[in-house]
Amino acid sequence: MAASWPPGEGEFERLLETLAWVEGNSPYYRRRFAEAGARVGDLRSYADVRRLIPRTAKADLVANQQQHPPFGEFLAVPRERFGSLHTSPGPIFIPRLPEERGGTPVLKEAIRAMGVRPGEVAHVTLSYHVMPGGLRLHRAFEEAGCLVINGGTGASRLQVEVARGWGATVYAGTPSFLANLGETAVEMGLDPRRDLAYRVGFSTAEALTPALRAKLHDTFGIELFDHCGEAQIGPLAGECRVHEGMHLHATDLFCEFLDPESGEPAEPGGIGEIVATQLGPRALPLVRYAPGDAFRLLAEPCPCGDRSLRIAFVGQVGAIRKIKGVLIHPAQVQRVLAGFPEVGRFQIVVEQRPGERYESAVLRAGVVGPIAPDLAERLAARLKATVLIGFEVQVVGEGEVPETAAGPRFAEAIVDRRSHG
Ligand SMILES: [Zn+2]
Repeated sequence: MAASWPPGEGEFERLLETLAWVEGNSPYYRRRFAEAGARVGDLRSYADVRRLIPRTAKADLVANQQQHPPFGEFLAVPRERFGSLHTSPGPIFIPRLPEERGGTPVLKEAIRAMGVRPGEVAHVTLSYHVMPGGLRLHRAFEEAGCLVINGGTGASRLQVEVARGWGATVYAGTPSFLANLGETAVEMGLDPRRDLAYRVGFSTAEALTPALRAKLHDTFGIELFDHCGEAQIGPLAGECRVHEGMHLHATDLFCEFLDPESGEPAEPGGIGEIVATQLGPRALPLVRYAPGDAFRLLAEPCPCGDRSLRIAFVGQVGAIRKIKGVLIHPAQVQRVLAGFPEVGRFQIVVEQRPGERYESAVLRAGVVGPIAPDLAERLAARLKATVLIGFEVQVVGEGEVPETAAGPRFAEAIVDRRSHG
């Protein structure tokens, strides 16, 4: 069944079964539910779940595992039932049941959507060291019928030699490491297009910008597919051959997309923070886990025919503000400004000026070098067309914009001078 939003009746039933199992088996959640006044047997609708069942932050998991080492009170089965051990930096300990496949069914679907054929050689370059990503991808490609190179990170020259020797046609890892392999191949006197056979690539764990995608296509002739996920809840979504947003493939998760300000379900076309519950019995269950990532929900059906929801990564939820009624993440503005090479850092000032009916949004664009006379006008027009709100644009020297406004943290990218009270 395709993952849908808002959730259907069948998905709600599966969620309730899971919550009842968790309440019965995980001491941590039994206590959290009771403290919140929630009894799973009394939940009648998804709205009840949203209102009564508390969210879990990564910090809750880390703190509880540190207080009760190593697994914490989240644990829902005795150790004799563990099938495998997954560990993330923190360290975070995630034991799994033998039947929990660590997200590989989602990944297999994503691998199929890339047009990968059984028998192809896949080169996995995510880390295998105290990180779940490398091994998880390795297993998924093997389950999809591929032969897999255990590349891991670093050792670029050796990796080029191995990928060339095996004739790898599929790359899987970060786009920046692929760029590194291209440069290394050239240093070794090779032609990446002729000497390496990469045909398609599974890009993950960092942003695949349009510029990087184009550069890697130039270097290798490779078609890259962007993917997203999170270390604890695993893979979520991936691009199809249309390359417009990522299809949500996570059928073993109950995914919610909630308005970062109101907590209500996000509308199609809007921005939602992901909150995910792992479905089915788990050795270490996570309920309403909120890693703090925001996505835009694409409203139109995909021309590829896959009816599952498409999402596009926006950024960390903490940097989002509602401006003129629209949720804006500084990363969206940065993507627009990337089309203007003379613009560096920027800052947005939102205020409600006395006597004015509507709030104002001023974009201070920090510029390096000479300034074209119509720059402010062109910036305003492009922003209005893509981010959908009107900005007054002020062109200033980049030195006048604080460094703390810069991405990827964007700590002071939006200055909110509206009084809330
Ligand atoms: Zn599609």
